[in-house]
Amino acid sequence: MNESIDAAVAAWREALGQANVVTSAESLDRASTATFPTNASVVAILRPGTHDEVRESLRIANRFELPVYPTSRGCNWGLGSSVPTRDAVLLDLSRMNRIVDFDPRLGFLVVEPGVTFQQASEFLRDQQSTFFLPVPGGPPQGSLIGNVAERGEAAGPYGQRADFVANMQAVLANGDCVHTGFGRFSNASAKQLHRDGVGPNLEGLFTQSNLAVITQLTVWLTPSPQVLKPFMARIGRRDELNQAIDTSRELLLHRVVETNGIGLWNSHKMASTMGGYPWQAMDGKTPVDIERFPSEPWLIGGAIYAASPEIADATAKLVQQRLNAVTSDWQWGDSNDSQNVYLGVPTEHNIRSAYWRKKGGLPTHINPDRDRCGLIWMCFAVPLVGQELVDVINAVEPVALQHGFEPNLGMNCVNGRCAHLYLSIIYDREIAGEDKRAVACHDQVMTLLRDLGHLPYRLTLLSMDSLPKSQDDHDRCVQSIKRALDPKSILAPGRYDVVPD
Ligand SMILES: Cc1cc2nc3c(=O)[nH]c(=O)nc-3n(C[C@H](O)[C@H](O)[C@H](O)COP(=O)(O)OP(=O)(O)OC[C@H]3O[C@@H](n4cnc5c(N)ncnc54)[C@H](O)[C@@H]3O)c2cc1C
Repeated sequence: MNESIDAAVAAWREALGQANVVTSAESLDRASTATFPTNASVVAILRPGTHDEVRESLRIANRFELPVYPTSRGCNWGLGSSVPTRDAVLLDLSRMNRIVDFDPRLGFLVVEPGVTFQQASEFLRDQQSTFFLPVPGGPPQGSLIGNVAERGEAAGPYGQRADFVANMQAVLANGDCVHTGFGRFSNASAKQLHRDGVGPNLEGLFTQSNLAVITQLTVWLTPSPQVLKPFMARIGRRDELNQAIDTSRELLLHRVVETNGIGLWNSHKMASTMGGYPWQAMDGKTPVDIERFPSEPWLIGGAIYAASPEIADATAKLVQQRLNAVTSDWQWGDSNDSQNVYLGVPTEHNIRSAYWRKKGGLPTHINPDRDRCGLIWMCFAVPLVGQELVDVINAVEPVALQHGFEPNLGMNCVNGRCAHLYLSIIYDREIAGEDKRAVACHDQVMTLLRDLGHLPYRLTLLSMDSLPKSQDDHDRCVQSIKRALDPKSILAPGRYDVVPD
């Protein structure tokens, strides 16, 4: 790479302007730092300001056969931050931060990659929109398109982000541009409203892949409910957890509660967002000793979206009745709270958990990469069946504890049939040996759950190579597409890549 990089940097500087090609050691070091140990480095940073500059950047990368790794905001904390999968030039799209279009009647936004959740939320507030954008528990400065590229998720209806987008504008490795759905027809009236369009839809190829850079897309917004009723209750025992999950499934399947409208957290996860580690109570030892904190409840929480106060009250009554036998301490939130995360108001509340083991407390500006927070986020898809999820939890907990970490677990009921289960391994990267123990814990949990058939639905840099081989010709098919679209493998090599035969 060293031989060609100087010539390529000169070509990029000519195309993007001197200031938009960054090579300072400090910036490269920052961009190469995640919340866990990584192997690859950023060798230069490109900051294109337009779609055409992205195309030109990729053409130059092709000419010099240099790998390029796109990020929209680079806040993929817990999964790899802005660090590439292999040594690469970072294509930082954060300057492309225009909200290109908003339709207040049909409820959609057209955005560029640099548009953040905070920016979109403030824009919709200023427009007095009757729609909102569901937001993830992740950073407010995260990117909407970055979240789509990862198939991330948010609280409440339309929370499975990548299912509610259309008309992606994507740049292929050779600089070609394609649109998904109807987007390729200049006068298609429904291009922002119809995902599939007509004929093969390429959309699925461009998320969790390394086949294109998304430079614009349409995201559908959720209609604001007349009434929102957030709730939370306590689950005290494992058999109750099992039953609460089964009841949640019924509530979701029968659409009493909306998809992504119920989540369950264990007390470790809750504690990590509320404050720092109880160093004093634990005499400086880790992990938290469950024997000393004997009640180890789970919490079930969510929100009811209703078209009238009467419907909200009736639904709330039904939900509580159904769950009553296995829950206690019900709390119903303020229906007039327009700042609720379930109404698309981003918050840093959950990000505080990254600082759980840091003795210095929270800084004014949260940045877990800079502050050497240790955080590995593991995400698995598991059937929404109480006993199956409890079995997985029972399997994961001792592994986390053995390695010295709290089993910080949560789950989101995605659609009435499947849950997303998360394990966060949280530690302090400043403490010698912790990085190594965290990676060992990650590897063991990954192998354990993979062997049980519970596969990750999203990967970290640590787990990109961890998937089992396909039992059919899937891997060969994906490899053929990659070779056809990116013969020199310059676009994010190793990102959700199929391991070559
Ligand atoms: C405490 C905590 C809570 C979290 N909660 C959530 C949550 O509820 N839901 C959730 O989804 N995530 C969550 N996250 C994970 C993560 O922080 C968010 O997903 C975050 O939004 C991702 O960062 P970003 O938007 O800046 O994406 P980026 O870092 O910009 O992008 C992520 C990846 O997508 C690819 N990519 C980005 N842009 C493009 C593009 N334009 N074209 C092609 N590929 C691209 C890149 O390979 C990149 O590595 C959480 C993290 C923490 C620490």
